[in-house]
Amino acid sequence: MDEVLKVENLSVRYRVGEKEIRAVEDVSLSINRGEMLGVVGESGSGKSTLAHAVMRLLPENAYVESGRVWILGKDVLSMDDAELRRIRWKEFSMVFQRSMSGLSPVHRVGDQLVEAFELHNPDSSRADALSRVREVLRMVNLPDRVLRAYPHELSGGMMQRAMIALALVNSPKFVIFDEATTALDVVTQGQIIDVIKELVEGLSLTGMVITHDMGVVSEMCDRIAVMYAGRIVEIGGKEEVLSNPLHPYTKALISSIPDLLKEGEKLRGIPGNLPDLSEEIVGCPFAPRCPLADEGCFEKTPHLEKIGERHVACFKVKDVVA
Ligand code: ATP
Ligand code: MG
Repeated sequence: MDEVLKVENLSVRYRVGEKEIRAVEDVSLSINRGEMLGVVGESGSGKSTLAHAVMRLLPENAYVESGRVWILGKDVLSMDDAELRRIRWKEFSMVFQRSMSGLSPVHRVGDQLVEAFELHNPDSSRADALSRVREVLRMVNLPDRVLRAYPHELSGGMMQRAMIALALVNSPKFVIFDEATTALDVVTQGQIIDVIKELVEGLSLTGMVITHDMGVVSEMCDRIAVMYAGRIVEIGGKEEVLSNPLHPYTKALISSIPDLLKEGEKLRGIPGNLPDLSEEIVGCPFAPRCPLADEGCFEKTPHLEKIGERHVACFKVKDVVA
């Protein structure tokens, strides 16, 4: 099957006191085998929530309001707990944002990696488990001595490599990297990005890379989904989206990144803030910040429409293309 992930009309809410936060709103997408989808959008746009919903890892106060998720044809959201335990971390897996605390502090790193492998390969010998663990440590450029180390003995960068090893130890068919480098210094970030890049290319991983860093997207993704206020506002091939963004929000996002500017273009921030997600949004969620918005944009909600090879949710996009 070519389609590894399929998400259909997914909406996710958080309950906070009397309020409901509409963190993910009617998201549909699919990712084919061997493809990496970059998911971008400013802080609070719903990227991690989307990832957690796909992994069935939403916190207690969150719920899936509607929609479906399939991984390798299996309906993830309706799966019973036993099935979920059997395939999560084995067939699909994730490296978390702020994952420094992902390993238990009281067990050696090697033991935790071996245990993660044995859990999904109960018939394998200890020697097989160790050999696989050594193999993934090499993949993330960690020395064997890490096997005997406790998490607190690792530097931030080593810890993040260990987390990537943990996510990959069972050779998952689908992996989500959620801001896998944010908590690190710039140099270490660069090193981890290189590790992820090599893995993505070397293993032809299928998955999602969630990041604020368009450089990362342009280096390791095939397609890009741009999220705003819980929705996908533009999705398409990397080259197309980066070199010729169509949605005014994508344009604004790209012109806020120095490296992606064409000669003569000015660096700009995006004035204004994300809308209040606890209120129902009437019209286009970006309209209040959009230089092109007219009355209609405040009245009706645009949905993704095919423009060439990509999909864009904007009433004014024809003016943009023209
Ligand atoms: P960032 O780039 O900062 O990681 P994000 O795009 O991953 O942001 P999410 O973490 O998915 O954004 O958050 C989407 C919305 O859901 C935000 O408004 C956020 O405040 C809200 N939210 C996230 N987690 C929770 C939670 N556990 N309880 C309540 N609201 C939450
Ligand atoms: Mg996030």
